Amino acid sequence: MPNSGAAQIGNVDLVKQLNGAAVYGLIDQNGPISRIQVAELSQLAPASVTKITRQLLERGLIKEVEQQASTGGRRAISIVTETRPFHTVAVRLGRKDATIALFDLSSKVLVEQSYPLSAETQEALQQQLFTIIEHFIAENKNVIRELIAISVILPGLVDPENGKVRYMPHIAVDQWPLVEALNKTFKLASFVGHDIRSLALAEYYFGAGSDCSDSLLVRIHRGAGAGVIINENIFVGRNGNAVEIGHIQVDPLGEQCACGHFGCLETVVSNPAIEKKVKQLLLAGYASCLSAEACTIHDICRAANLGDSLATEVLKHAAVTLGKVIASSINLFNPQKVIIAGEITAADAILFPIIQRCIDTQTLNAFGENLPVVSSQLGNRSAIGAFALVKRAMLNGKLLQHLLDDGRKLPS
Ligand SMILES: [Zn+2]
Repeated sequence: MPNSGAAQIGNVDLVKQLNGAAVYGLIDQNGPISRIQVAELSQLAPASVTKITRQLLERGLIKEVEQQASTGGRRAISIVTETRPFHTVAVRLGRKDATIALFDLSSKVLVEQSYPLSAETQEALQQQLFTIIEHFIAENKNVIRELIAISVILPGLVDPENGKVRYMPHIAVDQWPLVEALNKTFKLASFVGHDIRSLALAEYYFGAGSDCSDSLLVRIHRGAGAGVIINENIFVGRNGNAVEIGHIQVDPLGEQCACGHFGCLETVVSNPAIEKKVKQLLLAGYASCLSAEACTIHDICRAANLGDSLATEVLKHAAVTLGKVIASSINLFNPQKVIIAGEITAADAILFPIIQRCIDTQTLNAFGENLPVVSSQLGNRSAIGAFALVKRAMLNGKLLQHLLDDGRKLPS
C-alpha cells in the first residue's frame, strides 16, 4: 500500500482535507492574516479559500478581526484561529501514575491532575485509565467546553496507524486496541502515541525545537529514549517505532537491561542507574555530602551543582556515555539541535559541556558545527506530548475535517 491515507479515503475527500488543512495551518501560523494572503501562500484559488474559511468560521474554528491596513487608510478584515472553545483531554500514562491535563487548542493547560496507577494487566490498566478519564471529565465539567479529542501517550511500542499498543515495559500487552476502546467508550476522536517521540513533536510545535525542522530529543528518566524530528515530522519506521537509543550497547560487560540484553545505554544513564551507582560508591566508603537514604536524582544533581565530587564524577561518567550515543545519533540523523529532557538537566552546567565535547570530537565536522545542546522547555512529566498528537491531527486535516463534518466519522 503505497499511500495508506489516499487508499483509505476517496481522492476528493483527501483533497478537501488537505486544502482545509493548508488554509487552517496558514491561519494558525500566520494569523491575523487576510484571505488574499492565505490564497497567495496556499496557492489555492481565492474562491476555494473563501469557501473553506466560511466553513471554518461557521464551525467557530477561526474568527475575523479588524486590522488597520499597514498603509493606513481603510480597515482590513483578517482572520485568526479560535483556540479557546476546543478542548482536549491529554493523558501521560506512566508506570505508576498518570497525568491528565485539559488543553485548549492554543496548547494552554487549563487543569492538570495526577492519578496513581496500580494495574498489573492490560485489562485492569484500561479499566483504571478509563475510570480516571471519566473522573477527570466529571470533575472539570464546568471548565470543559467542546471536547474534541482524547490523546494518550505511554512508554513502550505503539502502532500509531492502527492505534494499538504493542509492548509496554512493565505490563504484558497483546496488540492492545486502545484507540478503538477509547472511541467506543468516549465517542471522541482518540490518539495514542509513544511518550518520548510525542514529546519530540511537542518540542517542535511548542518548545525548544520550534525554530528548526530537524531536531533530536533525548529523554532520560526511568529509561533513556529519543525522538527524531526530520523535515517537521516524527521519524518512525513502517511499524511506528524507531530510534531506541536506550538499547544501544555501551558496555559489553555491563548490567542486564529490562530488554534482556546487557550493557544498554539505559543501564548506565537512566535515573535508577545513576542513583544505584552513587549508592554503591557511598557504601564502598567514598566521601560525599549525600547519604544512601537521600540520593535521588534530584539530590545527586543538587550535590553536584554544589561541587560534591562523588555526585559530579558519577554524572560526568553518565555524560560521557550519553554523549557518545548522541554523537552517533548526530552522524545518523544530522539534526539542527539536540534537546535533552529529564531530571538530570538540573545539572546541565556539568553535563552539557561534556556532551558538547563528544559532539565536537565524534561527529562529522559539518554535522557537529554550531549544533546547540539545550534543555527541554516542556517539563518532564507533562502530558503535552499527547496534545501534540492532537495539534498534528488539526494541521494535517484529519481531526479538522472531522470537526467540519461535525463528527460523522471518527478520524483514524
Ligand atoms: Zn536494553
